[in-house]
Amino acid sequence: MALEEYKGVFIFAQQVDNEISNIAFELLGKGKDLAADLGTEVTAVLVGSGVKGLADQLAEYGADRVIVVDDPELKEYRTEPYTHAIASVIDKFKPDVFLIGATAIGRDLGPRVCARVHTGLTADCTSLDIGDFPLVAIPGREQKHNQLLMTRPAFGGNTIATIACPDFRPQMATVRPGVMQKKEKVAGAKAVVEEFNPGFTPNANYVEILEIVKEVSDVVDIQDAKILVSGGRGVGSAENFKLLEDLAAAIGGEVSCSRAVVDSGWKPKELQVGQTGKTVRPHVYFAIGISGAIQHVAGMEESDIIIAINKDETAPIFDVADYGVVGDLNKIVPLLTKQILAAKA
Ligand code: FAD
Repeated sequence: MALEEYKGVFIFAQQVDNEISNIAFELLGKGKDLAADLGTEVTAVLVGSGVKGLADQLAEYGADRVIVVDDPELKEYRTEPYTHAIASVIDKFKPDVFLIGATAIGRDLGPRVCARVHTGLTADCTSLDIGDFPLVAIPGREQKHNQLLMTRPAFGGNTIATIACPDFRPQMATVRPGVMQKKEKVAGAKAVVEEFNPGFTPNANYVEILEIVKEVSDVVDIQDAKILVSGGRGVGSAENFKLLEDLAAAIGGEVSCSRAVVDSGWKPKELQVGQTGKTVRPHVYFAIGISGAIQHVAGMEESDIIIAINKDETAPIFDVADYGVVGDLNKIVPLLTKQILAAKA
């Protein structure tokens, strides 16, 4: 089939326990922009058991159409039946672009699906655009238009690569949670809902789930925080994080950290910001005793306001900061907390 016959931007609408994951709304937000550039529509692919009722939520966040694959075999996520579901949707509906969240589920599903439908996949994209490929015309090489340009850090974050998939369809990418922005919810918006079931045969190759044990965590999700008070190695010890916790409490924020802090065992991995941690986009991000390594900055540079406190005036964090204070955090942070509490009193 000719590549031009593949149409539309599709996103995998991940749900867990019949609750749509935030990443699905974020992908719809990006999908909408890509679809506008391509003059096409956004389709959400909703896979599960008893999930049809969730289609309206996807419409409210921008889906023009929702393809529902609903089957008891799809109740919990398992690699094989979900791969079969998505690969069958691709075979039947022939999307031009297919986006999946780089969640634990998406990281398992994406590579399986792309191998099954014989296309490529760019993992962990930080930016997606429509454009020409190669980016500049090269004599003797065909330049294709309206290609999905998938950008991601490469070689441990030391370079940024823009990758395209000019010869196969769909063009597939995974995107980390928190990287793309969801659109404003349009209450009452409706999408065309299409049910599709390729048939599922319980088969010996399927993994049988005997028991699901949910991780219980009292750690907040830093991706939801409007204000983050983030500490780095410069904080000095787990105990000294009390300074940052007091500041966070005074301004209604949450504490997060750099990888050096996690590696030192001062804070759990769930609080790590950066390339191998979480991508955050709060209104205010305090970077306290954080040098501003590229792998850290990759996870917080989209914050609305960045305030850096560092004793080294040449620290790279000041290159991305909106406000910078050069000095010892042990003096500055308590003073700041005191001033904020005084202003509130
Ligand atoms: P440092 O670089 O040691 O900086 C400490 C800073 O504190 C310094 O700038 C210093 O001037 C300042 N300071 C010290 N004392 C004080 C004081 N009293 N008052 C004020 N300032 C003070 N890092 C991440 O954060 N997130 C990631 O997801 C991540 N992923 C990575 C992935 C790969 C593949 C690799 C190779 C690295 C990754 N890193 C990541 C590590 C990253 O390269 C840096 O090593 C790390 O971010 C450094 O953490 P830091 O800024 O807390 O510590």
